[in-house]
Amino acid sequence: MVSKKPISEALQNPIFENLRKVVLSWNKPTFVIGGFVRDFLLERALPNDIDIVTVGDGMALAQKVADSMKNSPQVQRFKNFGTAMIKTSDFELEFVGARRESYQKDSRKPQISSGSLEDDQNRRDFTINALAISLNDHNYGELLDPFNGIRDLENGIIRTPLDPDLTFSDDPLRMLRAVRFASQLNFSIAPETFASIQKNAARLGIISRERCVEELHKILKCPKPSKGLLLLDEAGLLEQILPEVTALKGIEEIDGHKHKDNFYHTFEVVDNICAHTDKLWLRWAALLHDIGKAPTKKFKPPTGWTFHGHEFVGSKMVYRLFKRLKMPLNDKMKYVQKLVLMSSRPIVIAEDIVTDSAVRRLIFDAGDLLEDLITLCEADITTKNPKRFARYHKNFQIVRSKIDDVEARDHIRNFQPPISGEFIMKSFHLKPSKEIGIIKETIKEAILEGEIPNEFEAALALMIKKGKALGLTYDGETL
Ligand code: ATP
Ligand code: MG
Repeated sequence: MVSKKPISEALQNPIFENLRKVVLSWNKPTFVIGGFVRDFLLERALPNDIDIVTVGDGMALAQKVADSMKNSPQVQRFKNFGTAMIKTSDFELEFVGARRESYQKDSRKPQISSGSLEDDQNRRDFTINALAISLNDHNYGELLDPFNGIRDLENGIIRTPLDPDLTFSDDPLRMLRAVRFASQLNFSIAPETFASIQKNAARLGIISRERCVEELHKILKCPKPSKGLLLLDEAGLLEQILPEVTALKGIEEIDGHKHKDNFYHTFEVVDNICAHTDKLWLRWAALLHDIGKAPTKKFKPPTGWTFHGHEFVGSKMVYRLFKRLKMPLNDKMKYVQKLVLMSSRPIVIAEDIVTDSAVRRLIFDAGDLLEDLITLCEADITTKNPKRFARYHKNFQIVRSKIDDVEARDHIRNFQPPISGEFIMKSFHLKPSKEIGIIKETIKEAILEGEIPNEFEAALALMIKKGKALGLTYDGETL
């Protein structure tokens, strides 16, 4: 639905009153354009980035605006893009001179010459992003909509203003943007526009991976990312960015044994998890949790299909995937890796009788990721059998309450061994040696198995016993 509010309401913030004054003396056609106008008309939360286009020198206008503002903010100039930005506490004002762009085949960098507002609207990616509002005195607040962007907003359509082949081959990033906007706004992509994306998909290769990832992040931040992910796939874009995910496609059948389609399953898991978390990297973990299944898939009679070790293989793939996409190889990557690695653990527990020791081990191994891991596992329940669905969820409730019980009793999370290596060394007059590791491991195992409580006294007794068994002499002086 397009807003019925008068356009003047878009310009209510005092910042526009100031712009109006500056534009009056600047005396060149100047407009608010792009996302701000679109989001006002859709009654979405107004973005704090406001794009302003002027028929003239955008940098000079930015300077004039900055000079007119109270504490004369700095103008940041981006010479490469011919844009200038002013940051205030509420807004980022971005200025550009109206321009015409012409592109070479193998580059995203256009040759730029100055042009009219129409030229500038022509170079915009979609009709809904080419809408402009005048800041000029004679028609202040008038909406300029040369490509019927309003109609496309009303019908929920993403469409290029010009021949889509030209728009996409000029700047293939726009193909990802089309899908991303469709996903964010829950719009569809016009058939001829979509056909052109399919035709030009291979040109995505000239786009930097960082920019592709930015769009992927935005798709994953949507309430229902499967919309964008499926469009990416249908367009032939997904296999170029995430071949590990498209490799999960398909169902095979041998001797009446079928496995589920892990590709569509994955998207369901992503949508499920989005209802429970805004954490971007947890959403990434959902997207990647099964990628190890493609390379590990085997048919083993009489069991049927197996994916042995897919969690481990998948976690290794996460590293290579992050590296290839130039995503940061930092704690975020490790977080995703660990969730992928552990993604079957709680399910295995939930399927069986939930024992204390299994829960203790889970708490110990998952550490700070425990809640997120369980959230992932619950999202992983995509069975269409209502009885099974209810049973699995119930089992996870049991796992959750067991976690609380065990944790309250045993304090396994962020486990600190009750006896240190140093203490063991002193007790048995040892130099660094493998016996210390063996004793430490014995104590840890006994605690996790529930054989002894997570307490000093009990650990000490076990230490002495194990030390004796290893032929060591205990020196009671350490106490
Ligand atoms: P959002 O801020 O939510 O990403 P937006 O539409 O404001 O949405 P920006 O990237 O901020 O997107 O760009 C502002 C405007 O600049 C767009 O509305 C569009 O008119 C134009 N634009 C941005 N990127 C491109 C592009 N690659 N090709 C053509 N026009 C673009
Ligand atoms: Mg924007």
